[in-house]
Amino acid sequence: MSELSQLILDRIRDVNDYPKPGVVFKDITPLLADAQGFAAVIDELAGLYPGIDKIVGIEARGFILAAPAAYRAGAGFVPVRKKGKLPSATLETSYELEYGSAVIEVHQDAFSPGDRVLIVDDVLATGGTAEATVELVKRAGAEVVGLAVLMELAFLKGRERLAGVDLHALVIV
Ligand code: IMP
Repeated sequence: MSELSQLILDRIRDVNDYPKPGVVFKDITPLLADAQGFAAVIDELAGLYPGIDKIVGIEARGFILAAPAAYRAGAGFVPVRKKGKLPSATLETSYELEYGSAVIEVHQDAFSPGDRVLIVDDVLATGGTAEATVELVKRAGAEVVGLAVLMELAFLKGRERLAGVDLHALVIV
């Protein structure tokens, strides 16, 4: 395992039975609170794809990573949000959750045609959120050059839903 992967792993905390019994939640707040760890992660994300135009953050923890990475990379930041939060005209897509479904949106004019885009989130679990975001960003006219997450939960097989996407996980567990 790389030094960075170990550093991340050491700073992500397992919280049992959150948000419901039986679930082990990966809590990234200790990593965010560690100046060295936070900087290392942001620098890594910012350097993954030289020359990208925009970095997309997925609400809400994706924002915490994507915005500073965009600044560091000299790229713009674009939020993908849960339905009803963006003020101007949007494109939306729905995806299945374990119970029910969710809708996410992006502003219609968030991208210039052909923008090269990196999507960032904290954790890849079943892959549903990431898959929906990739579809949305493409529909909005951008090129998805990659998807980066801090942590991939491999046992949930989210990667299988992202065929054709360059998925970069800083830690795989
Ligand atoms: P998926 O759609 O099942 O891949 O779930 C991924 C989304 O849920 C991401 O936006 C994550 O922020 C969130 N998520 C799922 N599991 C965890 C976790 O253990 N820790 C933090 N976020 C999680």
